[in-house]
Order: sequence, then C-alpha cells, then structure tokens
Amino acid sequence: MTVFEGSLVQPSSNRAAGSMPAIWQRFTATVCSVLLVFVFLYYVDVAYVILPWYSFTVPGMLHLMLLSASTGLALRCYFLCMFTDPGRVPPGWQPDAEQQAAVQEVKKSDGGARYCKKCNQYKPPRSHHCRVCERCVLRMDHHCPWVNNCIGHANYRSFFLLLVYCSAALIHSTLLLLGHALHLVSSSANSRVVRVGPRATPHTFEEDPDSHVLWHIGLQTFAFAVALPTTIAVVMLLVWHIRMVAANKTTIEHAEGITAQIKAGGLGADKQRHPYNLGCVHNGLQVLGDEPVLWWLPRSSATPGGLAYPTFLDSRALGF
Ligand SMILES: [Zn+2]
Ligand SMILES: [Zn+2]
Repeated sequence: MTVFEGSLVQPSSNRAAGSMPAIWQRFTATVCSVLLVFVFLYYVDVAYVILPWYSFTVPGMLHLMLLSASTGLALRCYFLCMFTDPGRVPPGWQPDAEQQAAVQEVKKSDGGARYCKKCNQYKPPRSHHCRVCERCVLRMDHHCPWVNNCIGHANYRSFFLLLVYCSAALIHSTLLLLGHALHLVSSSANSRVVRVGPRATPHTFEEDPDSHVLWHIGLQTFAFAVALPTTIAVVMLLVWHIRMVAANKTTIEHAEGITAQIKAGGLGADKQRHPYNLGCVHNGLQVLGDEPVLWWLPRSSATPGGLAYPTFLDSRALGF
C-alpha cells in the first residue's frame, strides 16, 4: 500500500454539517448580477444586432438559433451548478479497513486517517471541508460565489459544461457586437441606410445624427464592454479546467501539490504522477461520464459514487 498526504485536518469547531439553504436564499446579489448579464447580452444581441441587421434571413435565423441554444444550455448548466448538492459525506462514514487500496490519503500531521473536526467525521479521499458551506464536500474543486455553491463530485460536470456553453455564447455575442459596430461605422462613412433597434427602423446618419441611432451605438458599446472581458475570463477558466479534466485533478489538489507529496511517499518510477491520473481518455470518461456521445447534455440525474476513486495503480491491475 502506498500512502500519500492529503489536506491538513481542519481546526476544531462545533459547527455541524451544513444543510442546503432555501431556494430564495441562493439568489445572492452576485448570482442576480450573473443572470442579469445573461439576459442583457442575449437581449442586446437579438433585438439590437441580429434582427435589425440580418432580419429573418437564413444567416439571421442561424445566428438566432445558435445564440439561443448556447445561452439556453449555459443557463441550464448554471442552475444545475446552483441547485445540485455537490456531494456530502454519509453520516458515520469510516475508511474501510478491509479495503486494500493501492493509494490512501492520510493526514500530514501524523499519517492517520483524514478526519474533519468541524463535521466530526472521517473524510473520504478527495473530500474537503468548505468554510462557506460549513460541511465536507466530496471531490471538492472549489467554492464558487458566482453560482453560490460548492463545485464538487456531483456538479463538477455541470460546471465544466457551463464554462463550455458560456464560452461559446460569449464569443458569439462579442463577435456579433463587434461585427455590427463595424457595420454601423461603415454605413455612417458611406451614408448608407441602417436598420436599428428592436423595430428595425430605417435610418441614415445624415438626417438625424443625434437621434436614437447614437443611443443604440452607446448601448451596444456598453454591451461589448461587458462581453469582452467576461469572454476572456470565462475562456481562460475553461482552458484551466480542460487541463484539470485531462489530468483528473481538482483545483484544490493542484494547489496542494499532491504529486509532490506522493514523491515523499515514494512511488518508484511514478513519483511525479498524480494518483488519480488514469490517462487522458480515462480521465475524461471518469469526470464527464462513460458515454462520450452524451457529454454535451446537461443532466440532473444523481451522480453515483464519490467516496472512492480509482488510481493509476488500480488501473494497471484492471488493464487500462
Ligand atoms: Zn467538514
Ligand atoms: Zn462551499
């Protein structure tokens, strides 16, 4: 058996394992602002860009369908992240003394079984105590204030898909706003008629340059100023989590540098390898589900497991 150190045991506290707050309590100011950005960008893109610019043409309908699909799927994933319990440790759970696991996580302090003094219970592998949720969370990745929930075993997949669909919707939205701005500038320079606003009102810049055309341009400029930095941030986060999925690692595990602790435990030729890294394909299957054709689908069904995970030493025994 190989032993490696997990997280430090949390300081003592009398707080019991936290329960999920009521639905209305989930809608914090941060959550409401995220939802407002969703609605605002979608509305400006549809009412002020797609319909006035493309009208009900084939390209216009394609843009409308793609943007609606990516925004709808992103919203579905967002609410799944918000309302799915990330996974809690069953009451009375204890490490299985009979289990001959190839790798076990232990306390750094004395090498014993990981125990949460705040929840007064043992901690399964990859679980951590969240100070915001006030309980231990299975395969905890991080606590996300943007969805006001922990991201862990049962909702990590929804979180990953949220980043994928958000990135797609935001890139699409940003390019539409940029393209339409260039179209307006070009029309202005050539004194062409443009159609603006939800009613697609025909307008030239010469006849009334201070009119509502400038208001539309200001609104779209503001939307672009919101969309561009949001797009950059979300895409960067997506790239980070693609790395995490490919390595079957959580953000906490990355931060703690478990691989360095494995080195201390000594795993021969695999000293540097993350214990749950089963290879890129098997990592994807484990994190996103074993049916790749369904990876794109946001699902609310209960996620089994969460108390134990195969390691690369197990995978050798299993022959993959
Ligand atoms: Zn705990
Ligand atoms: Zn939390």
